[in-house]
Amino acid sequence: MTKYYILFGPPGAGKGTQATAMVERYNLHHISTGALLRKEIAAGTELGLKAKELIENGCLVPDEVVEGMIESEFRTIKGVDGFLLDGFPRTIAQAESLDALLSKTGEQVTATVSIMIPDAMIMERIKGRALKEGRADDASEEIINNRISTYHQQTEPLINYYKNSDKYHEVDGTGNIDQVKESIFAVMDKF
Ligand code: ADP
Repeated sequence: MTKYYILFGPPGAGKGTQATAMVERYNLHHISTGALLRKEIAAGTELGLKAKELIENGCLVPDEVVEGMIESEFRTIKGVDGFLLDGFPRTIAQAESLDALLSKTGEQVTATVSIMIPDAMIMERIKGRALKEGRADDASEEIINNRISTYHQQTEPLINYYKNSDKYHEVDGTGNIDQVKESIFAVMDKF
């Protein structure tokens, strides 16, 4: 049965870094909605133009936009044991829409792996990343603060959503890359 893992956590928790190790070990396809949106922006598509302003203000893009992207990845990617969703769902509405989509084929979310770090560390990590990657949404403290509050308001409620269905597994994201990786593998080896 196809596995559907959600990689959850605040911005800067290290999801992208850990995703690379996870997809390799469990033969998954990595879907990062943030990376897909940045690709649209770079290509200058109509969708990219709309997304750019929202992203650069630390806001979320509309649910339908990311939901469409996810659906199209599920449809086109074959030959993997499962999918690793990184940056999706980010709202309760997106989580409900994912459940509805999977239930059409009798499937469901396998597990949510949550990487947790405190707010102070979010700021520190994103500032470090800004120097290396030059992402527009990492450029100022104001944008980063907006993303942190967007996370608390719109995304954090998902913790209870997945706890309620016994799919929530939290790991401590404050250690080094290898320590966090081992904690994640310890959770995922169970599925
Ligand atoms: P980070 O991991 O630092 O939070 P991402 O690369 O996952 O950053 O996402 C960057 C931006 O793309 C988000 O701040 C948001 O504006 C937009 N985005 C990504 N995923 C979603 C989503 N599921 N719903 C709405 N907007 C999204």
